[in-house]
Amino acid sequence: MHILYDLHTHTYYSHGKDSPRANILRAVELGLDAVAISEHASGNMYYGVRGKKLEKLNSELKALKKEFDDIIDVKIGLECNVLDYGLSDVPENRSDYDLIILGYHKGIPPTNAFARHILFESFGGKSSPKRNTDAIMEAAEKAGAAIISHPNEYLRVDIPYMANCARELDIALEINAKHVSLTAEQIRTIHEHGAKLIIGSDAHRAEDVGSFGSALDAANAAGVLGSIINIQE
Ligand SMILES: [Zn+2]
Ligand SMILES: [Zn+2]
Repeated sequence: MHILYDLHTHTYYSHGKDSPRANILRAVELGLDAVAISEHASGNMYYGVRGKKLEKLNSELKALKKEFDDIIDVKIGLECNVLDYGLSDVPENRSDYDLIILGYHKGIPPTNAFARHILFESFGGKSSPKRNTDAIMEAAEKAGAAIISHPNEYLRVDIPYMANCARELDIALEINAKHVSLTAEQIRTIHEHGAKLIIGSDAHRAEDVGSFGSALDAANAAGVLGSIINIQE
């Protein structure tokens, strides 16, 4: 089994430990074809990268992309946040990015009905998985996202419905190796509904880049290892 690429990694620009270069070097060491630095976008109050810091990150990534051009495909990614129904913090200049990931995270300001509803759910209020799914998938479509990170983490979604939407929009659903948020049955359901599955390390340290252990176990338990798009059996 061979890991082709890891598109979900963080650095010390947000709350990770190592530099973008360290993540890339680790990916090279593992023989990956591609690696993305996909930092948290600005909308996250706790660890979003914004302003001058984001500009510095992007220019560093552009330089690294050139430097490593002959060795590995370095992708400039961004992990954006769902902020409201159908709305995310994807930047205006999204063409500067090779890859947009979209996910729901804690730490979005509770200033709208969506955020208040999630707060209500977290205190045991009635859950609305289908409405939550619409919030995410509409935001993903508008943002031009290629991947939904850790579906069902922090926010309950309707997995068969999300898989159908993802298939129609050609968006991959992630099995996140840092926190596997899907059961084997849910992973199988996603596959049966024809949506693409991808594994992301969500590495916050260079040594965790390409470290897919728990996600591989989950994919294996679901019997879909051969269908993961960034794995070659
Ligand atoms: Zn995330
Ligand atoms: Zn992440």
